[in-house]
Order: sequence, then C-alpha cells, then structure tokens
Amino acid sequence: MLDEVRALLILQDRDRRLMALAKDLEKLPIDEARAKSKLAGDEAAVSKAHDALLAAELKVKKIELDTETRRTTIKRLKIQQFETRKNDEYQAFNHEIARYEKEIDGFETLELQAMDAVDHCRELHQAAKAALAHTQKLIAEDLASIAQRQQRMLAEQAEVSADRANLASKVPGSALPLYERLMRTKLGLAVAPMADNRCGGCHMKVIASTAINAQAGKELVQCENCGRILYMAD
Ligand SMILES: [Zn+2]
Repeated sequence: MLDEVRALLILQDRDRRLMALAKDLEKLPIDEARAKSKLAGDEAAVSKAHDALLAAELKVKKIELDTETRRTTIKRLKIQQFETRKNDEYQAFNHEIARYEKEIDGFETLELQAMDAVDHCRELHQAAKAALAHTQKLIAEDLASIAQRQQRMLAEQAEVSADRANLASKVPGSALPLYERLMRTKLGLAVAPMADNRCGGCHMKVIASTAINAQAGKELVQCENCGRILYMAD
C-alpha cells in the first residue's frame, strides 16, 4: 500500500471518530431534555393534589363559618325571646332556635366528613410529593451521568483532535487537500477499499486500468465515478 494512502487511512480513522463524537455530543441536550421532562408529570400531580387539599380545607372553613353564623343567630334569638312577654312569640322563638340547632347538628356531621376528606387529601399530597422527590433523585442521577459522559467525550475529542493534527502534518505527498475535500463531500469516507474491482464508497465497478493501478499500489488512484481514493482491500 502506498505510504500516502496508509497515512490517510489512519487520519480517516481519527476523523471518523471525531465525527461520531460530535454526533454523540449533539445528542446530549436531547437526553437532558428527556430526563427533565419526566419531572413535568410528577410536578403536575403535586400541584393537583395541593389544589385538592386547599379546596377540602376551604370546605371545612365554610362549614365552620356557617355553624358560627347559626350560633350568633341563636344568641340573638335567645335575647329576643328573653325580652318577649307573649307566650306565642316565645314558642315561635323556640321553634326557630330548634330549627337552627338542628342545622348546627347537621353541619357537625358534615364537618366531620369534610375533615376526613382533608386528611385523605393531605395523605395524597404527601404521596405525590414523595413520588416527585424520588423522580427528582433519579433525574439528578441521570443528569450527573450525562454530564460525566460529556466530560469523557470532550476529553476524548481533545485527545483525538491533537492526534489528528499531528497525523495530518505528517501525511507524505500532496494528497491531504484532496483527502480533506473528499471527507467533507463524501459523507466521511474519502479513502475506500476496492474489492472485486468495485469502489467501497460508491459500489460502482471501476475501469480495468484503475483496478490495476490500485492493485499495484504505486500511485494515488481515485474512483472515476465518485473520486474517492482507492486502496486494495485485504
Ligand atoms: Zn467510487
């Protein structure tokens, strides 16, 4: 194999590694976003449970307020009853007071039920918060692992880039500009193996003289169809 082609093949190996690393690095923000999106569902559940708890607490307060209003009314009725001299009026006050007291009894039952509902809502809210905390912990681990992966890839990228620059400076002959142009235009495959007289890049059969020259390995040979630099596959 031509020294020039051998050097370009090693260079191509580093370039392909750099391309793969760049592609993987581009995917990291997507992985991060995917990890964070897991939080949204749990956060919504906590918010919903909190709203339900507030509504349940409000219901208890409303019943307490209604009870208090009835108690105030009863006090007022009792004063009025005390002041009256008429028996029928006195009896009417009794009926009214009894009606309000019955309402208060009803409210007490409702308040107990409403307080049970508050307890239930509070449990659900606690459970939702615990689930969120668990998810947050998992996501923190995911994000840390993504950050570690990024560190490793950046370190490798720096290392391979330095190696690549060194190799590029040592490519013999004058094929480096051709190689770099092919790398950009031929999907990261500038130097392709030739097998059964076919170019490993575009898979077209090369003409006989090209095949013979590639086999001889004495000069730089390009596929006449795609322009890639060819070498004999083992
Ligand atoms: Zn070709």
